[in-house]
Amino acid sequence: MEKRDHILEMNDVFYRWPGRASFALAVSDLRVAPAETVLLLGESGSGKSTLLSLICGTILAQSGSVHVAGADIGALSAGKRDRFRAEHIGLIFQQFNLLPFASVRDNILLPLRFAPDRAGRVPMPEAEATRLCRDLGLPDEIAQTKAGTLSVGQQQRVAAARALIGTPPLIVADEPTSSLDAATQATFLDLLFAQSRVHDTALLMVSHDARLADHFDRVIHMADIAQTTRGAE
Ligand code: ADP
Ligand code: MG
Repeated sequence: MEKRDHILEMNDVFYRWPGRASFALAVSDLRVAPAETVLLLGESGSGKSTLLSLICGTILAQSGSVHVAGADIGALSAGKRDRFRAEHIGLIFQQFNLLPFASVRDNILLPLRFAPDRAGRVPMPEAEATRLCRDLGLPDEIAQTKAGTLSVGQQQRVAAARALIGTPPLIVADEPTSSLDAATQATFLDLLFAQSRVHDTALLMVSHDARLADHFDRVIHMADIAQTTRGAE
């Protein structure tokens, strides 16, 4: 298989946090196809967030390879990696990481500042931010509101809009539903899936919550793809 057939491909990746002998993560083979939705399940501490950082190139594997959209992440310089991430990956963090004093609008448009190609796909940024808010069930007036004043459910939708704007080919989400009740969780996932279907976006979500499984094309267990070494410090 050519690397370009998959939006994500990890091969024989090994990672150990610097200065921490007790934890190591080894991933033999993980692939995600374009437009595929994948749930990666694993218990707390199994290395899910570490794995997502490797995919995003915020940390680099000590051995093995990570390809995103055909590019070898480990072969890019730090600056190129930042640009590449902004262009190709929509990120939804566990705590959403919105800028609390910035408006909802500015939070949603933020990734476009660092990604000229992605920005080029959004000729009318204001209108697109409004459309995304609407599609994600947020009222139009919310665009001017400071993100820090929103409810958790609203912050989560804004984080999703920020990940979706400019249609990156891969969305990576780190337990984004863990602070929501079951009904809000289901609504959020439906909205996220609907958006990613329209734009053929692949979605890789990590979670410890097996109840989410039904929503996804494929479910992978950390235990089946990764060897996690854990011990005393
Ligand atoms: P999960 O997301 O599955 O709960 P993590 O990837 O967050 O797991 O954590 C796996 C291990 O990596 C833990 O032992 C954690 O303490 C360690 N770890 C996570 N982030 C860092 C970091 N920035 N520096 C050092 N160790 C870290
Ligand atoms: Mg985590």
